[in-house]
Formats: sequence, structure tokens, C-alpha cells
Amino acid sequence: MLEETKKFLSGPLGSFINNQWLTDEEGERFEVTDPCTAEPIAKVRRASAVELDSAVEAADKAFPAWSALPANERAIYLHRIADALEKNFDTIAEIETLDVGKTIENTKGFDIPFGVECIRYFADLSMSLPTDTPLAIKAMEARIHRVPYGVCGFIFPWNFPYNLLLWGIVPALAAGNTVVVKPAELTPLSTLFFAKLAEEAGLPAGVLNVVTGSGREVGEAMCNHKKIKRMSFTGSSFVGKKIGEACGRNLIPCKLELGGKGAAVVFEDADLDLAAEQLSAAITFNTGQVCCTATRWIVQESVVETFTDKVTSLLKSVKLGHGLKAETGMGPLASEKQRQTVVDYLAKGEAEGATAVLKGECVTPEGCEQGYFMTPSLLKGDTENICFKEEIFGPSAYLTTFTDEADAMEQVHSIDYGLANSVFTADLERANRVADNMACGNNWINAHNVFAYGLPYGGVNLSGLGGGVNSPETYYDYLRPQTVARPL
Ligand code: NAD
Repeated sequence: MLEETKKFLSGPLGSFINNQWLTDEEGERFEVTDPCTAEPIAKVRRASAVELDSAVEAADKAFPAWSALPANERAIYLHRIADALEKNFDTIAEIETLDVGKTIENTKGFDIPFGVECIRYFADLSMSLPTDTPLAIKAMEARIHRVPYGVCGFIFPWNFPYNLLLWGIVPALAAGNTVVVKPAELTPLSTLFFAKLAEEAGLPAGVLNVVTGSGREVGEAMCNHKKIKRMSFTGSSFVGKKIGEACGRNLIPCKLELGGKGAAVVFEDADLDLAAEQLSAAITFNTGQVCCTATRWIVQESVVETFTDKVTSLLKSVKLGHGLKAETGMGPLASEKQRQTVVDYLAKGEAEGATAVLKGECVTPEGCEQGYFMTPSLLKGDTENICFKEEIFGPSAYLTTFTDEADAMEQVHSIDYGLANSVFTADLERANRVADNMACGNNWINAHNVFAYGLPYGGVNLSGLGGGVNSPETYYDYLRPQTVARPL
């Protein structure tokens, strides 16, 4: 472990409010563990609803000055934070790997650089997108004028703590809002490290605040707080509905980025090597704990055997181990609770009649005897099975077969999730037709898990509401439109 990582993890760690660290020895602390070894790696002070209140007050106080800055001056702060992340690249990659159990190859190759790119993208965008739009209306001088909302609240899940933090808060900050963040208790470390870098980069006090508490106490208080003017939640559909209800009661606009159960439709003319490679990666990347990944593999009957051989051979070859080891291809589940969830789903799926093409086993790679590891699994069966219908959130997929396009589409639409689907075929006309007709936020062709800034990403139905991320629209989501009109 790097000296910088050790120093940061040794703490003290706790909420970051108004550029102050609330880390005093009094009060309860919770342990953060390395899921590869189940060893404690840090202790974080558990915040209360009172701390949340102080954070909102600080953000509210900081708002007038932050929002009054010209966009380019806010963008300077954002670029300085991105510079700091690049300087501390190895440390933050190590922190994220240790906290979530991700492979260092993924944190260095995807999470950290993609997060830096997010900051630079929105910093630059904020300087070029107009906040005012003149309206062409007869006998009237009129325009839409957009202003930041004020204090924005953010609640995040544990699977991509660093990336989701940036996808969420950066457009809000670039647009002139101040933010209060509640990270997941399971994985708060990269968020706290980010706050430390933001402080060192000179971000004014109160612009970014982090409250390290539970969903029940701090999360609920956040979506009921009168001074929070906009909420964003990323997490399960179950909790998302509660957040939506609370925000609805208070008439606070809310963005919900929720769970998924992605379908991949593989036609007989598809490049089966490519489909097998993309779909095995879909359930091993981040140990399958990816909201938009493909876990329903709907494969044309005539090629199901060939496809299954190819994909199982790839899944069997994945090397499990500690995330920090360069040769590791897949890490553990993020917690024992999550591993047990996967084990329970697989047992229920088999009890309901599915066949285990590849059985998921709890295993103990060398040096990780207490870790939460599980091998990839593949079930096959009908579309009534619980493992076809519900999000499992682990290295597991469910295989069904189809006869023709209409049959495939019926299977895709037989459940209510609508986050990300894909279609694999050599026929681009069919690919575009199928992609256009899938009721889903993101539809990918001959690939799964495709992300880029400028490519909007969000869910529909059970998978989300109220926006999405990663595009110019996301920036405008954090600006409230109002009209100004003068009859001529
Ligand atoms: P979760 O819904 O259990 O928790 C998410 C966050 O909500 C945590 O910070 C938690 O403390 C908080 N929370 C819990 N109860 C709350 C309440 N009553 N009020 C306010 N806050 C509360 O989700 P999770 O298990 O942390 O994450 C996994 C889920 O997140 C999966 O369903 C996954 O698909 C989804 N996810 C979605 C996206 C997306 O972009 N659509 C991205 C990542 C993860």
C-alpha cells in the first residue's frame, strides 16, 4: 500500500462541512473493510441528522458567492481539482480498489481517469453553454433565463462511489449550485479523499459538503430538508421510490438513477466471439455490481450452444484475487451481505426450475481467505424465473432463447426495468430497429456498457426518472428556467 493511502486511511475521518473535518474522538464510528480480506481499513465517524443540518446551512451560506462567480472562474476551481486528482492518481485508485474490491486495472483504467474527464468536460461545457435563450415571439422581447437552484442534495450507492459522485455533483457545481453529499456507508473513502483534494485545491468553504451517515437518518433528513432545492439519488429502485415520494411531498425536483436488469439480444448472424467477450465482461466488470450491465442474455435458438460454449469458457478463465494484484481479473462482492444476496437468488432460481449452466461458488483465493468472493454463474430457463426478473447485482447472468425478433422483443419487455439493453447482429438495419424499439434509457449495438461524455445516460420505468447524467442536458438540469418578457 502507498504511504499516502496508509496516511489517509489512518484518519481521523468523518464529515466534511464548511471546509472543516468533523473527526473528533467523541461519537460513534463505523468500520470500513477491504472486501477482499474482510479486514478493517478505516474508521469513519457516523454523522447524525444534526450534522446534515449544519452541512445544508453551510451550503446555503456559500451559495450566493459561488453562484455569482462567472462560469470560467468556477471552471478554474474544477480544473484545479481535476489536476489534483491526476497528481494523486495512484492513491485514489488504491483507495477505491481497497474500499470496493474493484481491480486496480479497472480503477486505473476506467474509474479514476473517466472521473477526471467528467470534471474537465463539465468545466468546459459551462463556459460555452448559454444560460439565456432569446425567444422569437411576435411583439414581445422575451427570453428564458436560467439560474442555479441553490443547495443540491446527493445520495449515492456503494458500487461506483467515485465515478457516480463526479457524474452527480460536477454539473451541479459547474452550474453554480452548492452541494451536500451522502456517500454509502459501505464505501465512503474516495468521496472523503475527493473532498480533501477539493479543499487543498482551494474550493471555497461550504461549496462541497460531505456527511457520512446512514440512509435512514441522514438520507431521509436530506430529502425532507426545507433548504435543499434539488435532490439527486442514485441507488436501488426500492429506495428510489421512497426518495421520490419524500421529494414529491415537498415539491422538490428530484433526479432518480435506479436499478437495472439489462437485456442483451444475440441474433444468429452476430459475431459470437464479440458477443461472448462483451457479455462475459458485462458480469465480471466490477464483479457484476453494475446497474446497467447485461444480465438477461436472450440468444437465438440456432446459436445458443455455440454462444454458451464460448461465453462459459471465458467466464471460467477469469482469475479471482485481491483487487490490488495486477493479474486479478475479478474481485469480490462488496460485502458479505451482497454475496449472500447472490447466493440466495441463485438457489431460488434453481428451485424455480432454472438449470445452472455454470454454478456460482463461494471461493477463497490465496491470501483472501475471508473475502467475499464468488465465481461467475450462468442460469438457463424460462422468463418467469426470479433470476430473469429481478436485479441480482453480482457476477451472474440468466440465459433464455428466442425464435424470432418479435419473441426476443417480448422477452426484453416482459419486465419493468429500463436502464440499458444491447443488440448483437451483423445486420445494422435490424440492429437500429431493435435498438429504437427497446423501451430503455440506453440501447447499445454490438457492445454492452458504453459510456462517453456527451452521450446521455439515464433510465426509464423502474430504472429512473427526471434526467440522467453525462450530457449537456445534465448541466441544464441543475439550472432552473424562468422567463422574462416585455410586450413591445
Ligand atoms: P440503496 O438504494 O440501498 O442505497 C443507496 C443510498 O441510499 C445509500 O447511500 C443509502 O445509505 C441510502 N439510503 C438507504 N435508505 C434510504 C432512505 N430511506 N432515505 C434516504 N437514503 C437512503 O442502493 P445500494 O445497495 O447502495 O446500491 C445498489 C443499487 O444502486 C442497485 O440497485 C444499482 O442498480 C443501483 N445503481 C444505479 C445506478 C444508475 O446510474 N442508475 C448506478 C449505480 C447503482
